[in-house]
Formats: sequence, C-alpha cells, structure tokens
Amino acid sequence: MLRHPGRGRRPRSAAPGEDAGRRVPRAGYRGSADRSEASCKKREDYLEWPEYFMAVAFLSAQRSKDPSSQVGACIVNSENKIVGIGYNGMPNGCSDDVLPWTRTGANRLDTKYPYVCHAELNAIMNKNSADVKGCSMYVALFPCNECAKLIIQAGIKEVIFMSDKYHDTTEMTAARRMFDLAGIIYRLLFRTKHSEFLWSAACAFLR
Ligand SMILES: [Zn+2]
Repeated sequence: MLRHPGRGRRPRSAAPGEDAGRRVPRAGYRGSADRSEASCKKREDYLEWPEYFMAVAFLSAQRSKDPSSQVGACIVNSENKIVGIGYNGMPNGCSDDVLPWTRTGANRLDTKYPYVCHAELNAIMNKNSADVKGCSMYVALFPCNECAKLIIQAGIKEVIFMSDKYHDTTEMTAARRMFDLAGIIYRLLFRTKHSEFLWSAACAFLR
C-alpha cells in the first residue's frame, strides 16, 4: 500500500507535565476568528489545468527505466478528469533487466527501439474509462508516427506537448501529416504562468 511519508510516524511522546491527548496550539495561533484576512483568501499561484496535467505527465515519466529518455503522458476527458497515465517502458511480462536499453548497436535487435512501448501507447492502454474518445493527451514530447496512429484510432482529439525536438524527423513529419488529415489538434504548451516550473522539469526529463 502506498504510504504517505508523513503518516505512520510514531507520535511524539508527551513531555513531563504535558497532556498527551490534548492538541497544543502552535505559537501565535489564536483561533479562526483572529486569522488575518490575507490567509483566508484563496491561493492565486495554483497550477492551471494544462500545467497540472503536464506536471502529472512529467511525474509519470519518472517511473521510466529508460536511461536516455523519460517521457510521460496523461489523458484527460472533457470534465478535466484524468482517465489514463503512462510512461515509456518495456511490454508487460518482458523483463526490463533482459531487454536492451541502448540506443545504438550493430544490430537493431540489440537496441531498445523494437521493444519499448511509448508513453502514449501505455496511457491509452492504461485507461480507466470505457474509452478515450474526445479526450486530450498531455505528453512531454510530440508523438511519433506510431503513437499518432494510436492516438487517432483511440479517438483522442487534441495533443498538448512541451518539446518538439525531433520535429524534422520522418516519424514526426508523418505524425503531423496524419494529425492534419484526421483533424487532430496539436499545440505546444507555451508561456504559461508556471512555464519556468514546467520547463525546469522538462529539462531534467527530456535529456
Ligand atoms: Zn511514439
């Protein structure tokens, strides 16, 4: 079971003369009536929905075992509910200690490319709803042509990405061609309120 790091800690033993069963107010706390007006206002510096979903994609990427590229994807429905999350990894049942992770090799069979499931594929396969028709996908990297096919066939209508570093490759060119034909919207998440926060995450993950 996932355990919250703050939970499960043994309670501090009561100091001499202290009532262990009574909550001791923090210094300066004088009850809700005395709280300053400022502390009662809602936070303004919260993540916007697109930033939040992209951050979830980045967090998911951190599950990847790939030493050279960690990519995450997050699928969201029209109610802003997350219906699928995935990251790049080897297929179920195929040990990621046995299959290769290298990018180059005399034989392509000795590289990761024939084996790795991309984040987009895993996010679609991991969906927790009946389908992902009409959904949006947040993904760190612009999808390759194979993932573009999956996205189209799954009925996803929009792709939001943060990096298009392989823009000029055959795979990405083919992906754009298919997206255009199928009417899939694709857009860069650009200059949001928390761009710097997201980009610092992106730079760490998209090496
Ligand atoms: Zn792909």
